[in-house]
Amino acid sequence: MGRHLILFLGLLLFAGPPGAAHAQRAVNLYTARHYESDQVLYDLFEKETGIKVNAVSGNAPELIERIRREGGATSADLFITVDGGVLRTAKEAGILSPVTSEKALANVPQNRRDRDNQWLGLTTRARVIVYSKERVRAEELSTYEALADPKWQGRILARPSSSLYDQSLLASLIVLDGENEAAAWVKGFAGNFARPPKGNDRAQAKDIAAGLGDVALMNTYYIGQMLNSKDPEEVRAVEAVGVFFPSQAGTGTHINISGVGLVKNGPNRDNAVKLIEFLTDVEAQNRLSADNYEYPVNPRARTHEFLASFGDFKTQDIDFDDLGRNNALAIRLFAQGGWK
Ligand code: FE
Repeated sequence: MGRHLILFLGLLLFAGPPGAAHAQRAVNLYTARHYESDQVLYDLFEKETGIKVNAVSGNAPELIERIRREGGATSADLFITVDGGVLRTAKEAGILSPVTSEKALANVPQNRRDRDNQWLGLTTRARVIVYSKERVRAEELSTYEALADPKWQGRILARPSSSLYDQSLLASLIVLDGENEAAAWVKGFAGNFARPPKGNDRAQAKDIAAGLGDVALMNTYYIGQMLNSKDPEEVRAVEAVGVFFPSQAGTGTHINISGVGLVKNGPNRDNAVKLIEFLTDVEAQNRLSADNYEYPVNPRARTHEFLASFGDFKTQDIDFDDLGRNNALAIRLFAQGGWK
């Protein structure tokens, strides 16, 4: 082999594959989170480190499938999503590899990450009951299960069961109550609907304010976002509802997690690990709570005062993996129970 060829091969090794010449200055993430707060954090990371963050947005199952299909040629370094069930799906798809950074692992308690550290939590959110302050007293509320009672006939508002948030809630009830009780709950709950399922979480609060129904389920961060919205209709709507944390005397309020996984074949692993360390560290965690009203996973971070004002609450004691494990069954029970 001639000296020039050796030099050429050496340069190739140094520079990496074609198109990756600037790889050491970038990190690519595929994200299914849809919040403005995230881009603010990526900009901050870029400013602090000089590492450019390229975010590709999409729906979670499609992003997982894309990374799987791209295999060794993928440009994705990180996969970010909401929902513990989806994070489990990403792990099962074999697209992730364990995070070993001691710094990152010290930021995220064990019950907020995958048991093999293939994903780490970023935030949690609670799925609470919201109710008309005019037509419902908090004392009338207790558990998710009790909303199947005929007392609520014609008074419950819900979004379509295609929502991951309600699929994971039902998956949690399958784990805690058993399949038969969960199936009966869907029938009773759906039997109490005031109108066919419609809209997103925010729309349920608006429809309570408009008098279309009295009770709905919402993720806590949407309540914070609406209270601080520039749209006066959203502020008015959410001011008309009370917030109730269900099942405090029993199995606890349902929480779900959003998180980040390290893509096995990503081209910029060191930068990816740096971004995971950054996102789980106190400053980014403070911002996620302050700007998006989510619960930080890092116990040293500050919970937004809006969330803190609700006080500590009892959460369901289940493995986030169980949400994914029971997702297909949950979808089947929705169909059987008439929750479209
Ligand atoms: Fe959301």
